[in-house]
Amino acid sequence: MSKRNINEDGTTVIFGSKEMREPAPSEFIPQHKTPAQIAYQIVKDETFPQTQPRLNLATFVTTYMDDYGTRLMNEAVGINYIDETEYPRVAVMCGRCINMVANMWNTPEPGEWKTGAVGIGSSEACMLGGVAAWLRWRDRRKAAGKPFDKPNLVMSTAYQVVWEKFCQLWQIEMRTVPITHKHPTLNIEEALNMCDENTICIVPIAGVTWTGMNDDIEGLNDALEEYNSRTGYDIPIHVDAASGGFILPFLNPEKKWDFRLKWVLSISTSGHKYGLVYPGLGWVIWRDKSYLPGDMSFSVNYLGASITQVGLNFSRPAAQILAQYYNFIHLGMDGYREIHSNSMTIAKHCHEAIGKMKCFRNYSAELENPLFIWHLDPEYEKTANWTLFDLQDKLMQQGWMVPAYTMPKDIEEMVVMRIVVRQGMSRDMADMLLGDIADSVAELEKLEYPTPTRIAAQKAEKCKGKVFTH
Ligand SMILES: *Cc1c(COP(=O)(O)O)cnc(C)c1O
Repeated sequence: MSKRNINEDGTTVIFGSKEMREPAPSEFIPQHKTPAQIAYQIVKDETFPQTQPRLNLATFVTTYMDDYGTRLMNEAVGINYIDETEYPRVAVMCGRCINMVANMWNTPEPGEWKTGAVGIGSSEACMLGGVAAWLRWRDRRKAAGKPFDKPNLVMSTAYQVVWEKFCQLWQIEMRTVPITHKHPTLNIEEALNMCDENTICIVPIAGVTWTGMNDDIEGLNDALEEYNSRTGYDIPIHVDAASGGFILPFLNPEKKWDFRLKWVLSISTSGHKYGLVYPGLGWVIWRDKSYLPGDMSFSVNYLGASITQVGLNFSRPAAQILAQYYNFIHLGMDGYREIHSNSMTIAKHCHEAIGKMKCFRNYSAELENPLFIWHLDPEYEKTANWTLFDLQDKLMQQGWMVPAYTMPKDIEEMVVMRIVVRQGMSRDMADMLLGDIADSVAELEKLEYPTPTRIAAQKAEKCKGKVFTH
């Protein structure tokens, strides 16, 4: 290769370079060097045609942070959280965040430091909560001289995929209570019917991914109180509050779903969802340290001091912890409430507008969280030449990501569409979206022939001999 003093002489012609007219490396690390400006442009442009993150209404995860939060994260991008000896103040900030989250959820634990752990997201936090429940159950079984080889866990079919991973990886039997149109949230009676002496915990969800609804956690707690005293079992609750954990304390502080309930022993949440931090950050809190089995803490001595650590990962970014601590200080309880209640107002505005369109029907009448699902009106659908999947494609052309998907097992014949409203979505943007939905529907209504997804749906309908939506 000829010698190129690209960095020094300032004559780099990025789009005149050979790299720009050749395929990007995809199999082998290139033998030769590529100037930084050109390599940067190649990498940058890989994501250039993607949609704007704030127009992605499919994700629950933060797509907007203010300049100071972003700056703190950028400045901390090289910090490894695990190097607590080098960065002891990061560990202190993490402990303070755990305290604040625990107190936000009404922990009864006394003392200066509450019991919890940081995770890379709710997934890691759920795993840690699940493992703790499994080990506590196993220890009790061992102490009682009973077999401990068949643990199970009970939750609804509207679980997030992490619970399938948890059960598969730790070989725990997953018992799921069907979500039905009659029982769109966890059916408590059915859940208790599935429990036995081998149940490590029940996992209700605050902010169900599929529907945006909340399981009735207080009702479950009351039913468990009766069930446990009748059977002599000690089946506890782990709340998967991935989004609800940062919504309920601000929008519905009176509602009891957290450590105010006796059988709630652990709660997990995503700091990177309604905690308003860029990914990845999760938190898990235990009712007090007696519920965090000692086997889950590992000590290492090679970082300059003896460090105790709870987590699946070892190295992890510290920037998210700084950002969470910044948000807590900067926003305060008031700021979080204002942002989330704006999201709620905007979600309700969209919900109402969509409910008024003759082709649609909302899944639930009320919103519990700033997100909702809707489906095609069953009557309208009979003669429609399109499906919500076609609408998803149309909206994608305008830059919006509004997902259409089938509901969980047992009601999987229903196709729904979902909008998650987060910080970064204004009323004006919502009105633009609603305008684009109306325009897209008007175009779809002009179709003279059914779309491929409609034909596929009709075929499936004929095979099953039942109506597509219900
Ligand atoms: C998002 C979500 C998860 C997984 O969380 P991550 O932070 O993406 O790992 C788990 N449970 C529920 C209910 C969720 O909404």
